[in-house]
Amino acid sequence: MLNIRALILAMALAISAMAAAPTMFSIDGSTSWERARLTRLERSLNFTKEPMPDTWNIHIIPEAQFHENVEKMKVTTESAYTFMPLDQTYINEAYLQYATDQMVRHTLAHEAGHMICACTSEEKANDIAFQLEY
Ligand SMILES: [Zn+2]
Repeated sequence: MLNIRALILAMALAISAMAAAPTMFSIDGSTSWERARLTRLERSLNFTKEPMPDTWNIHIIPEAQFHENVEKMKVTTESAYTFMPLDQTYINEAYLQYATDQMVRHTLAHEAGHMICACTSEEKANDIAFQLEY
């Protein structure tokens, strides 16, 4: 028989785990299939050890616009970048067309890592990404 106290504890843990993930998560651009895929991959990340800011907006943008933005910002990436003051991550739609789920999941974890450390360090973002992925 299920112990009621264990059940209540499990529910409390589930609520606190959810609270560590961004509560206002949005995705726009591209197809509903790609947006659903990103939502599924974002939900699979483990934010219990590394809580996220409340808001995370993801914009999937066409390749040409992505390259134009990256050039203006003098950033080197083919996949994604994050504009931290607005909690916004921009993803290259062309990248999503060839990237596997595992690659896209890592990209999301890495960009989340930048938002969590509020820093531009690639090393710190990858360290946090590792915590979110496993
Ligand atoms: Zn980075």
